Amino acid sequence: MAVSNSSRVTYEATIERIFQHNLDTRSFFLRLLSDQQLTWKAGQFLSLLLPIAGETLIRPYSIASSPEEGNLLEICLNLVPAGPGSHYLFARTVGETLRFTGPWGTFVFDQPPPAECVFIADGTGIAPIRPMIRRALASGRQPPLQLLYSALQGADLLYRQDWEAYAQTCSWFSFTPLLSNPPSGWSGLPDSLAEYVERRYVSEDSDRSRHFYICGVGQQVTQLRDLLRRAGYQRRAVQYEKW
Ligand SMILES: Cc1cc2nc3c(=O)[nH]c(=O)nc-3n(C[C@H](O)[C@H](O)[C@H](O)COP(=O)(O)OP(=O)(O)OC[C@H]3O[C@@H](n4cnc5c(N)ncnc54)[C@H](O)[C@@H]3O)c2cc1C
Repeated sequence: MAVSNSSRVTYEATIERIFQHNLDTRSFFLRLLSDQQLTWKAGQFLSLLLPIAGETLIRPYSIASSPEEGNLLEICLNLVPAGPGSHYLFARTVGETLRFTGPWGTFVFDQPPPAECVFIADGTGIAPIRPMIRRALASGRQPPLQLLYSALQGADLLYRQDWEAYAQTCSWFSFTPLLSNPPSGWSGLPDSLAEYVERRYVSEDSDRSRHFYICGVGQQVTQLRDLLRRAGYQRRAVQYEKW
């Protein structure tokens, strides 16, 4: 049942499935109770209400599934060393219930812009980007879409098979993985995310019509935002979410 007060609705969902992406990253598939309906836009997040040590900790998690998938919501998160929220969630099992409010957030991809879109994600920062890309692809042929995805190592490139399959089937979608700790023999790009972005979208190119959607943890997100805006991309065309 949805519990309402003057400013928000609290939802309850059962953990229907847990998927282990790699050693420290899991997806939780949350089934809303049958009388509940959540409407959201690609890129938005839920605020989970976590009962920890006698308090309610609030932790936001992006919805990694698409709005079209209905009442089964996916959140995808990594374990943060000594982080109370992520440790609490990693101790949960199938059949347990989670409470949250939402959807929240203005980092959304609703109507695809009539310009090339570049999605930039680091690690689990792919979570809000995933439904954005699926939405963009579902809208059919359009200006190019690029996913620039950085992670520590190959196993941390989440949903990689999907990105590779989209790149094979959609000529207007390209997938560029970047690894900060590549294995020997890695045939991908050697650059860091900032180096690649600076080279590819600033110094080697004068097109400033692109739209960017950036998500990840910490200062690198705002540094990329500043780099692109300083280079002449429109402020509104560089959207970001920093965790
Ligand atoms: C709008 C929004 C959406 C978010 N969506 C997601 C999501 O889809 N998946 C996800 O894993 N996290 C997401 N986060 C981060 C999440 O809310 C928590 O901050 C994270 O799980 C750490 O919580 P904690 O209680 O375990 O650790 P805390 O003690 O609260 O955090 C410790 C430190 O870890 C940093 N941190 C935050 N997220 C991460 C991360 N993923 N990896 C490494 N360090 C991190 C924080 O900046 C903080 O300094 C989101 C944050 C925001 C603001």
